[in-house]
Parts: sequence; C-alpha cells; structure tokens
Amino acid sequence: AKSTSSSSSQSNIRVVARIRPLAKYELENGSKQIVNSLPSLLGSSPATGPTTEPEVLEVKPPNAEKRWFEVDAVFDGISTQRDVYVKSGAQQAVCQDIFKGFNCTILAYGQTGSGKTFSMGTAAGSTEITENDGIIPRATADLFRMIDERCDGNAQVELSYLEIYNEEIRDLMVDDETGGKDLRVRETLNGEVYVSGLQSLPVANPQEIGKCMEDASKRRVVASTKMNAVSSRSHAICALKVKGVLEDSTKFHAKLTLVDLAGSERIKKTGAQGSRQKEGININKGLFILGQVVSALAEQRPKYKRKPPYRDSKLTRLLQDSLGGNSRTIMLACVSPADFNLDETVNTLRYATSAR
Ligand code: ADP
Ligand code: MG
Repeated sequence: AKSTSSSSSQSNIRVVARIRPLAKYELENGSKQIVNSLPSLLGSSPATGPTTEPEVLEVKPPNAEKRWFEVDAVFDGISTQRDVYVKSGAQQAVCQDIFKGFNCTILAYGQTGSGKTFSMGTAAGSTEITENDGIIPRATADLFRMIDERCDGNAQVELSYLEIYNEEIRDLMVDDETGGKDLRVRETLNGEVYVSGLQSLPVANPQEIGKCMEDASKRRVVASTKMNAVSSRSHAICALKVKGVLEDSTKFHAKLTLVDLAGSERIKKTGAQGSRQKEGININKGLFILGQVVSALAEQRPKYKRKPPYRDSKLTRLLQDSLGGNSRTIMLACVSPADFNLDETVNTLRYATSAR
C-alpha cells in the first residue's frame, strides 16, 4: 500500500474532507462503500472546536491498493452538520477570526452529487437552526449573535451573492433585466479587487440573508446532465462584508466568503456534448487555477515558492483578498463513498491535500 499523502500543515488553509452516506439508489444498485474515515471507529464525542490533530481517510478499492489521505478533519456518513461546522473550524472563523479582522473563506469542492450544497446549506428564512442546516445558516446565525454580544449596535453587514459561469460573472441579487450579467472585475488604485456594478445590500439579521439567498438560488444557472438531473456547473460566491466597533472601541472590518464551487468532475464522465463541453472546460479553468493558487500558498519551502496565479481565472481573482496572506481558508472536500466514483474521489482528495 502507498504511504499517506500529506504534508505538515502550517499554512492558513485548513483542509477537511466529508464522505457523504451512500444514497438510497446506490444501496439499491449494489454500490459498495470504499471510502471511510479512520477515526470514526473510535466513536465521537460532541464537537467543541476545530480539530487539532490530523485525521486520516482511507480509500479501499476492491481490486487495488489502499490509499490514505491525511487532512485536518474527516467527516463521514454519521457526522452531523454541526460536527462539520464546529470541527472544520468554520465556527471559529465566524465567531473569532472575523472579529480580529481576518478575511475568512469557506470553499466546498467535489464532484456533482458529493454533498457540496448540502454541506454549505442554503440560508433558511427561519429563526431556529435545525439539524440539517448547513454552514451558511449556522454562520449567519453565529455572526449576528456575536455582533449583538460584542458590537453594541455598532456594526454593519453587507451581503453580495454572485455566480461565475463560463468565466462570466452574474449578480444573483438582481434579475438579469436589471443588468446583473457579465459584470467586470476592476481594481482600485491600491490594488483592491471588486466587481463593477455588483449589488451589496445591507442586512440586519440572518432572516434577511435567508430571504435574499432563497431568491438568488432561483436565478442560479442549472443544467441537466447525465450525472445528476439538476447539476450546478457554476461557482456560487456569497460574501458578507462585516465592519464594526468592539467592546474595547477597536474597529474591525473583514469579509466572510462562502463558496459552493462547480462540480469538479471531468467533463467526459457526464457525457455532455456541444455547448455543455465548453462550459466544462471553462469551469475547470477556475478550479484548476484555484488548485494552483492554494498549492502555491501551501508551499513552505521558500525555494519553490511561486507567485499564486490569482489573475488567471475570475474565481481566483475575486478570491484574491480572501485566500492566503492575512486570511483564513477552509476547504471542504466532499466525496462520495461509492466504488463507482473511485476516480473522482481520488482526484478530489489529491486536489484538496495538495492545498495543505
Ligand atoms: P452537490 O452540491 O455536491 O452536487 P448535493 O449537496 O446536492 O451535492 O448532494 C447530493 C445528494 O446527496 C442530495 O440529495 C443531498 O441531500 C444528499 N446528501 C449529501 N450529503 C449528505 C449527507 N451528509 N447526509 C445526507 N444526505 C446527503
Ligand atoms: Mg450543488
């Protein structure tokens, strides 16, 4: 068997992996579970914070060598949404790092059907967090709770939500007729990157965010492919700009960016043709450049340090001030446990572990 793929993790990027449960249709068609979390066998205690020791995920194909991947935390079919939020470090990012002025980014990566959207969650309009709520509703609830506790009314939150599809930026907060299509990336004189004409809406509570995101998700480009009846071939980027004054009068400002990336599967497997094919190539460009950016950021040997190629895709250009440098990044690699997804699962885990 091959040795564990890993590298020590001193970077600002945390990589965590989530194995979704086998789906009903997979159980029915006899799919085998070939991806497992090693620590899960030890039984789990309620999560109180981000994991501090690496965890290992095992891929065990029936007729091939086992492989192990080391990440900052592994979640499996019995992990709860709360486990993911807490142990990944997302909760700490929202409740602590943002208030210290760090830009924080949470990215969900993986093939279509691997659990990205389930894990990120859609901000629900309701007040109470329920078991199935993902990272976004938990993060927005915690964010406003912390603001209440720490800012005494002295804080502002602004929401923007966009999608990148075929290297084109589209504002998900406005209808197409209102001119939210094919927006341009611009740079201020001091190098700040922004999207020209993008809506940035002040929001006062998690419910407002929920409502905006619900409307927005209806505008998302979805296309039917053989792999999934409705599959998302675009990156969805939700950004919350937060600024305020803390109890001790210090000012802070930071951005929380929550990204549901496009499916990472190679286009061949979906059997897509024609115009779909072009989409696939462009989408892969964003993911490809993102992979180069995060592995350049993770590189610790100065000799090999490359300049992260932020400018080479829209996705990485927009995330430039939220990846690396003075920011915190969590990459959630989502994988299927099923044998027939072996190749994509290994690709996802290789991609994600190269960011550590
Ligand atoms: P993606 O966004 O990566 O394409 P989804 O999040 O839509 O994938 O997940 C595909 C299906 O699997 C959905 O029906 C979703 O509800 C289900 N699913 C994903 N992860 C889990 C999980 N951890 N527990 C239960 N169901 C899940
Ligand atoms: Mg999805």
